[in-house]
Amino acid sequence: MNYQYWDPQIEKMPRAELEALQLQKLKTEIRWALRAPFYKERLSKAGISCHDDIKSLDDLKRFPFTTKNDLRDGFPYGFLSIPKEDVVRLHASSGTTGIPTTIYFSRDDIKRWAGYMARCIYGTGCDKNDVFQNMITYGLFTGGLGLHQGGEEVGMLVIPAGAGNTARQFKMMQDYGTTVLHATPSFLLHLETKMKEAGVQRESLSLKRAFAGAEPYSEDTRRRIESLLKIDVYNSYGLSEMNGPGVAFECQCKEGLHIWEDGYIAEIVNPDTLEPVKEGETGELILTILCREATPILRYRTRDLTSFYNEPCKCGRTHRRMRRITGRSDDMLIINGVNVFPSQIEEVIMSMKEVGNNYLIVVEKDGALDRLTVKTEVSTEIFMDDSRPLNALKEKIKETLQASISINPKVELHESGSLPISEGKAVRVKDTRPKDV
Ligand code: ADP
Ligand code: ZN
Repeated sequence: MNYQYWDPQIEKMPRAELEALQLQKLKTEIRWALRAPFYKERLSKAGISCHDDIKSLDDLKRFPFTTKNDLRDGFPYGFLSIPKEDVVRLHASSGTTGIPTTIYFSRDDIKRWAGYMARCIYGTGCDKNDVFQNMITYGLFTGGLGLHQGGEEVGMLVIPAGAGNTARQFKMMQDYGTTVLHATPSFLLHLETKMKEAGVQRESLSLKRAFAGAEPYSEDTRRRIESLLKIDVYNSYGLSEMNGPGVAFECQCKEGLHIWEDGYIAEIVNPDTLEPVKEGETGELILTILCREATPILRYRTRDLTSFYNEPCKCGRTHRRMRRITGRSDDMLIINGVNVFPSQIEEVIMSMKEVGNNYLIVVEKDGALDRLTVKTEVSTEIFMDDSRPLNALKEKIKETLQASISINPKVELHESGSLPISEGKAVRVKDTRPKDV
């Protein structure tokens, strides 16, 4: 394969050099962090009052973790480390408590972020000849502007399409000859469902690649999108606390996501003990940003669960790869005492070709017990008025799920395109059980 690199010197930098670069950048980041009220206090308590206190990358382990709650407590300006007049943009993600976590960017921060995004996009084989339809939410959410800037940096023609409205999306694809898409994986599947309804022929489109991210999805879901839309799908990972997308991305080998280690230091810890996991084991990803002066964030607990690959990648990049995120540590459902991750359910159902493109997991109280219902759409090849294949499919899903998650679920089958779809991240779980307070 002919791999293309946006910044070959950095992307293929020998590990020892890369680590030396990380240390140098970490010191700079800490110098910035010490200007933010939150870290000035937090770090002085940990005995760090000057960036020169850091002698090696290992010293990072002396730092306390930063959590989403810390960011909320620091709202609005506790994490700001440059004068307000030098800030050119903010992004925010609104949590369930209503207090947003807000990230500020200087002009240089925006440039650096666009550079990482360009590296991701170019590494999938795109270039200035591509027409890029960015079908994700713009606004405070980082997914829209993040990929948008990266696309422009590469020189692609970027269409700021935004999320939703499949008919309009198809029209733009046809009018402008779109070759690259960006969307959530659930929206890409939805698009495929709607394509048939809208009578759009795949051959009338020029699509080649898609970037899919912002929510977890399984390898089977990726394959499904690739084969249904006849398109090459690349996994895109990021979070607003670390700028947004552009933290880690798949290369053309599609075996894990390269974390740009000159921009981010990644650790994986056991979420209970917070100790590092053994090489290759799954745990919570901890990230330290090395490329943002306006809002430094050190050792951020992402809650995202993943593991590192040990071996170097065939593409020649030296930056470490992580496996696709299987879920968040706070996603775990406890159903009648059994621990289940929604991703385990997705893995089972999306591997069946009779199952359609959308599903919903419902957990309810049924007397004293919890009841799990898995609602899935069926593929358009199955007719809803023929009960024999439907019953057989129901049984098959039930049995396979029971074998995989040790819970006997209720299975409901729905017509293709009939389950709710959200414009932003897919809502896969509806848990109506009363919360313990
Ligand atoms: P919020 O924190 O409000 O959800 P973000 O857009 O910052 O807003 O969301 C980041 C989170 O989205 C990540 O921490 C992760 O849980 C999820 N995420 C993003 N990209 C992926 C991906 N490719 N695979 C799995 N999960 C992802
Ligand atoms: Zn690679």
